[in-house]
Amino acid sequence: MVCIYCSAKTRISNSRRQLRSNNVWRRRNCTRCGAIFSTSEQVDYEKSIVVQSTDGRLSPFLRDKLFASIYRSCQHRPSCLTDTVGLTATVTARVWRLSQHGKLESIVLARTTLEVLTRFDRAAAVSYAAFHSDTASS
Ligand SMILES: [Zn+2]
Repeated sequence: MVCIYCSAKTRISNSRRQLRSNNVWRRRNCTRCGAIFSTSEQVDYEKSIVVQSTDGRLSPFLRDKLFASIYRSCQHRPSCLTDTVGLTATVTARVWRLSQHGKLESIVLARTTLEVLTRFDRAAAVSYAAFHSDTASS
């Protein structure tokens, strides 16, 4: 990666793997101007997982869409934004493991989200289920 200020080469002075969010944080130093900045490498979920709806249609896994649906379900909580960040990371890590060769059924995504929300806050789970009728157990 090149310097964000002068486009010269950079070297990595520190690197840490963050297990919970499965990303790698790096501190970089510019070899020309001496600027210091951080980068983060993480899985590109949108290009790595496709979601298959019940009618068979495929669409990319949109982490932002998951975030928005969890956020909507947690709006009664004073710590809604912080909670949504953590819950989205938890659901994403779980569905990643449940996907098969990068394909994830939408029902698995919805039920996993509901499970995580149920353990966290029942009111949030009820709100989520109201927007996702496909989570009703069959
Ligand atoms: Zn520079």
